[in-house]
Amino acid sequence: MRIVLLGAPGAGKGTQCKRIVAKYGLLHLSSGDILRRERAEDTELGRKAQEYMDSGALVPDQIIVDMMADAINKAPVTGFVLDGFPRTVHQAEELAKSLASAKQKMDVVLNLKIDDQMVVQRMTGRRSCPQCGAVYHIENLKPKIEGICDNDGTRLVQRPDDSAEVVENRLKTYHLQTEPVVDYYNKNNCMVFDIDANKDVGEVSGLVFEELDALAKA
Ligand code: ADP
Ligand code: AMP
Repeated sequence: MRIVLLGAPGAGKGTQCKRIVAKYGLLHLSSGDILRRERAEDTELGRKAQEYMDSGALVPDQIIVDMMADAINKAPVTGFVLDGFPRTVHQAEELAKSLASAKQKMDVVLNLKIDDQMVVQRMTGRRSCPQCGAVYHIENLKPKIEGICDNDGTRLVQRPDDSAEVVENRLKTYHLQTEPVVDYYNKNNCMVFDIDANKDVGEVSGLVFEELDALAKA
């Protein structure tokens, strides 16, 4: 199965992807996670992406398209779930071209729909583990001990781009550049399912699994 998860930053894509990969055995490919890893390793790519990420802008398409094509090429045949990519119509077109050259296409798009107000609450309260990448929320999904990762005891951190002012920019960028990607998939004969992402984590997973189970049986 090849799945794209669309939705505003903070809609819960990463959280749902972890549940999808656990249930269906797919590879999770998050463009944001790959970029953060490149930055942590201080690579040329990471350095190029830095200023865009810190201001809440998108990293230029060509950098992202090449980076993700490389990751997809290494994915197992069982499939993958894309999180945070494609984020522009141009990225979606380039992805389709590169899959077509391998006689493949995306099977399904899950569009996590969420109110802007909720996005701000989710992103400003997000905390993550720099060691294992686990994601928590200071109110919605608390770790057992405040500020400490349940998995490995590491102190949780707040992403610098989750500050209130950068969040506002990221949300604007989403409406302007990423929302049109939903239309792109609707017009290009790809199955698109809208999911109400305002609901709690378990309810959203239930809706996601309903669609994916039906698809797996078809
Ligand atoms: P994205 O990958 O779309 O940016 P995340 O999965 O990182 O979003 O979720 C953003 C924040 O919201 C995290 O702190 C996460 O713990 C929390 N969260 C995710 N899904 C839900 C949900 N359905 N209800 C409440 N909080 C959620
Ligand atoms: P995320 O973790 O998905 O919220 O992404 C964090 C940041 O990485 C974004 O605000 C962008 O600056 C950058 N980024 C991630 N994915 C993409 C993409 N597909 N296209 C452009 N920039 C991206």
